Amino acid sequence: MSEIQKKRMLSGIKPSGCLTLGSYVGAIRNWKDRADEYDCYYFMADLHTITVRQNPADLRRRSLEQLAQYIACGIDPEKNVLFLQSHVHQHAELGWVLNCYAMFGELSRMTQFKDKSAKNADNINGGLFTYPALMAADILLYQADLIPVGEDQRQHVELTRDIARRFNGVYGEVFKIPEPFIPKVGARVMSLANPDAKMSKSEDGDPGRITLMDKPEDIMRIFKRAVTDCETEVRFDWDNKRGISNLMSIYSAATGRTYEQIEAEFAGRGYGDFKKAVGEATVELLRPIREEATRLLADKAYLQKVCAEGAEKASYVAEKTLRKVYKKVGFVAR
Ligand code: ATP
Ligand code: MG
Repeated sequence: MSEIQKKRMLSGIKPSGCLTLGSYVGAIRNWKDRADEYDCYYFMADLHTITVRQNPADLRRRSLEQLAQYIACGIDPEKNVLFLQSHVHQHAELGWVLNCYAMFGELSRMTQFKDKSAKNADNINGGLFTYPALMAADILLYQADLIPVGEDQRQHVELTRDIARRFNGVYGEVFKIPEPFIPKVGARVMSLANPDAKMSKSEDGDPGRITLMDKPEDIMRIFKRAVTDCETEVRFDWDNKRGISNLMSIYSAATGRTYEQIEAEFAGRGYGDFKKAVGEATVELLRPIREEATRLLADKAYLQKVCAEGAEKASYVAEKTLRKVYKKVGFVAR
């Protein structure tokens, strides 16, 4: 199949903290092994991070760390386009245009906006509010077919589709309408300390968060303390046994076992045994990633080269869409 005929896939993650087990099983893991079938674009969404105040040195360091972690997760830079969002200026430019096609009412309904405004009450800035318009630009610039994301991003991908349809309705078929791809298992990994809250990479203080760079002994300790319930039965019941169900979902993601198989495996054994098994499976899942990322991080020149080449390829595609959009809305060509 030639490059032209391949469908396109795109996804990005903000370098707003160390990638977590949630980022891996909810997103990155589903990026691997797609390169044969799809033309794949993956980026560090650094423009998005500044909707919440960042320490500049940390942001710079984390952006390259995240690139190393993507590669360590199996995203081969020879087969996928890996880049930093801020290196491809078309994102910000199309983001502005799409701001003018995103409605105040629909932006107000975004759950992430509500959550993040509650958490950052002293900095509810315009960027936090219009974030989904920039995310729509990220996706639509590449005419992507498929967007692999966790459940928490479904609403934003749906808004992207609405914005694209609205724009196409006025100007003709400019944008391809993308489909969200949400994994069946692991779409929502919850904090081990609070199974009602999503495990999030920007929650530094969450004692129930597992990051890709955590050492085995730390992972085991966090699983040992995982919040469960006062029963003893390992059984999947998301509404009433969220802690255990979350652990089952992680175990399933790490071992490929179904919920039924897990229930059978731990029938009559207590939660202690189960937590230990999930901890061990997670350690083995993350071990090769941590080791490879550590190795890659020692070679900054290589990482710089990967993102420079990626930005060049991404810009080429993005520019085609942006030029079309500028023409459609009536900007004079340069
Ligand atoms: P932040 O707190 O900065 O928003 P985050 O952990 O929510 O960080 P994002 O950059 O918003 O991470 O999301 C990156 C990708 O990972 C998205 O596709 C998102 O759906 C997915 N993802 C994030 N957290 C989880 C989770 N706990 N479970 C499953 N998928 C997740
Ligand atoms: Mg998020």
